[in-house]
This record gives sequence, C-alpha cells and structure tokens, in this order.
Amino acid sequence: MKGKVVEVFESYQGEGLYFGQRQVFVRLFGCNIGCKFCDTKVDYYFECEPEELFKKIVPFKKSYRFISFTGGEPLTQKDFLKEALILGHKHGFKNYLDTNGTLPEALEEVIAEVDIVAMDFKLPSSTGEGNFWEQHRRFLKISSIQDCFVKAVICLSTTEEDLRQALKLIKEGDHNTALVLQPNSFEPQKELLEKVSRYQAICASAGVVSCVIPQMHRILGIM
Ligand code: SF4
Repeated sequence: MKGKVVEVFESYQGEGLYFGQRQVFVRLFGCNIGCKFCDTKVDYYFECEPEELFKKIVPFKKSYRFISFTGGEPLTQKDFLKEALILGHKHGFKNYLDTNGTLPEALEEVIAEVDIVAMDFKLPSSTGEGNFWEQHRRFLKISSIQDCFVKAVICLSTTEEDLRQALKLIKEGDHNTALVLQPNSFEPQKELLEKVSRYQAICASAGVVSCVIPQMHRILGIM
C-alpha cells in the first residue's frame, strides 16, 4: 500500500523530552485538524510503498537509533504507518511517534509497534479549534502502555481553565506522564515566559511534573 510522504531527513529532535537527540525523521502528509500556529502545512508529497521508504532510511541505520514519525498527523495514514513501524523494528530502530493525540482508534491499531508517544494536547484556547478532551482522554489511556509524554503549546490566548482540564486528564491516566509547556514561538517570549512560569506552579500543585522547553527547531532554524 502506498503512503504520502513529504520528506525523509536527519536532524535534531526539536521538541519535548528528547530535545537535542539526533533522529531520522519521516514526515507524513496530511492532518485532520488546523491549528492556528501550524508551521507544517505543505501541499507537496511523494507516494511510495513502505519498503521503498525504508530504502531511504536504512543508510542511516549505523548512526541513528530512533525514527521519528511526524507530520502533519501520521495517524491519518494508519495502515501505511503501521507497516512502516513494523519495518522500523525489523531494521533495529526505535519508533518515536509525534502525534496530535486526536485519533485514538488509529493509535490502538499501531501502539504495539510504537516505543515513544510524544502526544500534543490541543488546548482549544491555543489552537483556535474545538476541544478534543474526549479523544485526548482515550489517547492517553492507550499510550500509557508505552513511554509517553505530553506537550502543549502555550499562547497568549491560552486559558488557565484549559490547562487545568489537561492536568485533570493526565492525573486520570498514568500519573508519571510529564507535561512539556511550549511557549508559542510566534508570539512575544517575555510575556509567554511569565505565563508558563505561572502555569508550572499550577502543574506542581496538581501533582504533575512539567518542564518548559521552547520549540527549539524554530529558534535554531533547523527542521
Ligand atoms: S496538529 Fe500539527 S500538523 Fe496538524 S494543524 Fe496542528 S500543528 Fe499543524
């Protein structure tokens, strides 16, 4: 089965708890939502079978341990993704899934082949989209059988109410899940840093481990 792939490249992981790690990235085409701060909307891709995709990935095998499947939203192509994840393991890689956390049914079909779930919390006051609380709740539950951490972009528009709802869902699931707060890099950083520092105190009082990690790929100008 053919998948739609935007690009395969090597770079530093620019977000979350694995920030700074060298990884092989597979960017899949298409997303099911439209965040106002999205920087990965593209209208080009190439089509290929999973085996053809791996002809591009295998040369990285000696130097890289992780393949990061990203997008777009990789789970919008769950059948292609599943075959690619299986091939990733067959070739000795660890599979890192960067996902918007809104497609729990698709995740359920691939979770056995994922090693690390890097899940976004799409806070409605940040994204400008509707809320995905129910999808996030189910997604977190399924993810808890593997290593999982959660990221949330914090904008000037983000509300404390949304943060508290996210913390509630984290507490309902695996209590060890860490929350990464990401100041929106398109907005004034000084004001946002004051805000995330306040939000970290709220996380601590809710018993959720949090850290502030900017979206470094934008700051450093890497992919
Ligand atoms: S989920 Fe990610 S790829 Fe999709 S619109 Fe939001 S930021 Fe863009």
